[in-house]
Amino acid sequence: MSFQPHGKHLIAGQWLASEEQFLSSPASGPAYSFSKGSIDLVNAAAEAAEAAFVEYGYTSRETRAHFLNVIADEIDARADAITEIGCFETGLPGARLIGERGRTVGQLRLFAQHILQGAYLDKRHDKAMPEREPLPRSDLKMMQRPIGPVAVFGASNFPLAFSTAGGDTAAALAAGCPVVVKGHSAHPGTGEIVAEAVAAAVEQCGIHPGVFSLIQGGDRAVGSALVQHPLIKAVGFTGSLTGGRALFDLCAARPEPIPFFGELGSVNPMFLLPEAVTARGDALANGWVQSLTMGAGQFCTNPGIAILKKGDAADRFLETARLALEKVPAQTMLTDGIAEAYRAGQKRISATTGVQEVLMTQCDQRDATPYLFATTGRHWLANEALAEEVFGPLGVVVTVDSDAQMLEIAKSLQGQLTCTLHLDEADTKLGRELMPVLERKAGRVLANGFPTGVEVCDSMVHGGPYPASTNFGATSVGTLSIRRFLRPVCYQDLPAALLPDDLNL
Ligand code: NAP
Repeated sequence: MSFQPHGKHLIAGQWLASEEQFLSSPASGPAYSFSKGSIDLVNAAAEAAEAAFVEYGYTSRETRAHFLNVIADEIDARADAITEIGCFETGLPGARLIGERGRTVGQLRLFAQHILQGAYLDKRHDKAMPEREPLPRSDLKMMQRPIGPVAVFGASNFPLAFSTAGGDTAAALAAGCPVVVKGHSAHPGTGEIVAEAVAAAVEQCGIHPGVFSLIQGGDRAVGSALVQHPLIKAVGFTGSLTGGRALFDLCAARPEPIPFFGELGSVNPMFLLPEAVTARGDALANGWVQSLTMGAGQFCTNPGIAILKKGDAADRFLETARLALEKVPAQTMLTDGIAEAYRAGQKRISATTGVQEVLMTQCDQRDATPYLFATTGRHWLANEALAEEVFGPLGVVVTVDSDAQMLEIAKSLQGQLTCTLHLDEADTKLGRELMPVLERKAGRVLANGFPTGVEVCDSMVHGGPYPASTNFGATSVGTLSIRRFLRPVCYQDLPAALLPDDLNL
């Protein structure tokens, strides 16, 4: 391996070792030893972040844009080593990690451009009206200001784009907030090399070193202490519903509760309307299988549920999907725990009343092969647990008796990251009936496509009502995600000398 991790934490520019160690658990090759996180490290990182905020929160947009661009350059400078250790730790293929690095540096550069444009500040000005009767009006200005140090937790399935210098970190740094990352124990070496890139950018740009710290995991108490630290003012989290909910509850129970932006799981239902299924059922089944099994199904936008009207076209869709899934080879999962949870999910669904096993294959402990199940709308509606995410390449086809039952299923859904409609022109009436329901359920509604593959841009919403996320007003992908780390401040009659530079209108 070209990069040999030293296994230390990065706290405000210093690489520190702690006494206790944990071993990484890579998908292939030897394990490395990493220092375990500790409460002392959490305190040191949070205090350094607060000290940095006093300066960094007042840097110019140009300074922060340059800093983000240099982080991107430093990541690119370590491209091959990042891909190598990323593949080794996660089992994801090289092409996937190369693509994900492109997305990661692209996000950093996009935020640099975004803050230079300045529209995100949402500046407003109500001029003084000293002559107004019966009362004069003061001069009122408003703009968005950074909120303070932010804690970031990445997910195992995006070791770059939703991790150390991923979307949450990029958005927080762009806003003017220092970041303390809780490293993911599934990819600590990848975290370390990316932190090294951020540290190099901090030094090159002359930024306060407390602006970025990485505390490796190995102990869940570290994450809990971080979200409860009084100097941390918000949390960006991507991961499981269980982990996210536990940390969200801790944030809400703090003496000073803080916002917890948790991006969690989703089953991303697809509604296949009758005319579309009749016209191109085979293509839809093959497209679904591709989306369902990409990256061993380990995508938060994985479309796990297909809902369609019963009949010959539905039978054919199911059979085409089965034949295509049968050909998908075993793929390595991200961690032993995720592989175990995948099999537990399969057993839970197999044991549910009214569920038929369509494709059941055997695979080794850390490998995943696809599973396919079929059930009816009636059984689906009677078994709430069928709507819970199984992280991996597992699909459920639900056949409904009527349009009304399809609508009933849509209404029964929990919050989703995405809902998909497959429809032709003759399906428009049913599509229009579903739309008011689906747009209340999901952050993104799409037509005639597959939800895996999230564009990073201005219009993207990657979030949704609980449990897709813990904050339905926010997105974790795209430029709008900066909003999470800003708060509006109103300046009444303040002399120009006291206003932030950006507010001198
Ligand atoms: P995870 O197990 O919840 O881990 C995420 C992070 O939270 C890790 O750093 C983990 O620490 C920490 N953590 C989890 N539970 C904790 C607890 N009780 N106390 C303190 N820290 C805790 O999630 P994952 O397996 O990495 O990711 C897979 C899940 O993420 C899937 O459900 C997927 O759908 C979801 N996901 C969602 C999105 C999205 O944008 N919505 C994107 C990608 C993935 P350790 O390092 O100790 O494990």
